[in-house]
Amino acid sequence: MKLNNKNLLKDKLYINGKWIDSEKKFQVENPATNEIIASLPMGGKSETSKAIEAASSVFLEWKQKPAKFRSKILKKWFSLIETNTEDLARIMTLEQGKSLTEAMGEIRYANSYIEWFSEEAVRSYGDTIPSHRADTRILVQKEPIGVIATITPWNFPAAMMIRKVSAAFAAGCTVVSKPSELTPLTALALVQLGEEAGIPPGVWNLVFGDFESIGEELCTNPIVRKISFTGSTRTGILLSQKSASSVKKMSLELGGNAPFLVFEDANIEKAVEGALSAKFRNSGQTCVCVNRFYVHANVLDEFSNKLKIKIESLKVGNGLEEEIDQGPLINPQAVEKVNSHIQDAIQKGASLKTGGNRHRLGGNFFEPTLLTGIHSEMKICKEETFGPVAAIQSFQTDSEALQLANDTEYGLAAYLFTESVSRIWKFSELLEYGMIGINEGIISSEQIPFGGIKFSGYGREGSKYGMEEFLQTKYLCWGGLNH
Ligand code: ADP
Repeated sequence: MKLNNKNLLKDKLYINGKWIDSEKKFQVENPATNEIIASLPMGGKSETSKAIEAASSVFLEWKQKPAKFRSKILKKWFSLIETNTEDLARIMTLEQGKSLTEAMGEIRYANSYIEWFSEEAVRSYGDTIPSHRADTRILVQKEPIGVIATITPWNFPAAMMIRKVSAAFAAGCTVVSKPSELTPLTALALVQLGEEAGIPPGVWNLVFGDFESIGEELCTNPIVRKISFTGSTRTGILLSQKSASSVKKMSLELGGNAPFLVFEDANIEKAVEGALSAKFRNSGQTCVCVNRFYVHANVLDEFSNKLKIKIESLKVGNGLEEEIDQGPLINPQAVEKVNSHIQDAIQKGASLKTGGNRHRLGGNFFEPTLLTGIHSEMKICKEETFGPVAAIQSFQTDSEALQLANDTEYGLAAYLFTESVSRIWKFSELLEYGMIGINEGIISSEQIPFGGIKFSGYGREGSKYGMEEFLQTKYLCWGGLNH
């Protein structure tokens, strides 16, 4: 691989500031070519327990450092990542498949959290509260929670992990991270830069391999005080059940089933642009990706015809090549799921407007697809497709649109396109989602509280709320103050 900084290619676990190997290995594949690109140690229970011990042994020292000390390390890390953006993006594309342009975008997006939390680190204010007694004073302090575990998926190998760990470090927590075994190389490179930035040994540890026994240890070890997880609802429920006996705090950023509403009065050009970015980014493999389009019957033809033209112009290929819009899906199971959702929809009456098949490039590539005439009984409406398929259903009235949009157990993101201010307020208040894009298809950045409700989880990432997730409240009652 062409890298300017070869030191970013790491192939070991990282525990207590040391790179740790093991005899048992697992392999990482390039989803565009199915070539094996790395052979990495298979971490398990014992490595995880050592990582937790390491994080615990340095917690007090890290917590007691002035916030500015932690802030400066985060700033240094930010600047090292900035310098190495292109290399980090190459590593990501190689293991994840997304285009280099998207991978560079993700590295910058991830880094924006480091910058943000380097600034928030020095602003975790407490409170003083007027006392009910003349001789006491009441103070409220914010303290870091302790040892944190982060578990993150493969779709955004840098951003999902970074937006947790940067907030945790800023708050004064120490961390054991488990990235996805499908995409651990990006995480390893980020750890290397973290070490160069001065993150002390033990403050950040990275384990991966046998994810079930790693997960078991992270959930049941009482030293870990919080798990911050991004992934499927199924795994999120499992982890919270396992963590219940040690009364851990949890943040769960789980699956979504985002609706995208286009009203009769919408600016259709804007809606089509929004649809393209909210649906096809990362080949449709994001948790805030649109899963269901609801379009007013009077603008259905105009919207779907314009979207079809845009979809057909997307260039599919190996993300490392020039000008690629859509890389491969992550693995054959992902391709199979997308295919089965399309077949199910067609069998139940949907019409295929474009795409619909595995791409002629073979492997994990899939054609960007447009379906119309979908309805609630189809799998595509009920489950997260996680692929490049835009599926459209038409509606006639506002109440029908609202009912359809909320007809899911998930509640992460929703999008609406309308020029009516009263409709914007009404839908923003009645849609049961944690995040609403209003005439906008790209909604995430470091200043916003990212997160969901219902089966999409709880907890927020980014913004001042993201910092709160890693802090706990301590009340001090100071008595005996006789004047
Ligand atoms: P996805 O479908 O997005 O891969 P998963 O929930 O399966 O979602 O995976 C998200 C993350 O959770 C990955 O890092 C994966 O290895 C991890 N994971 C999955 N199952 C477990 C488990 N039983 N214990 C701990 N981590 C798990």
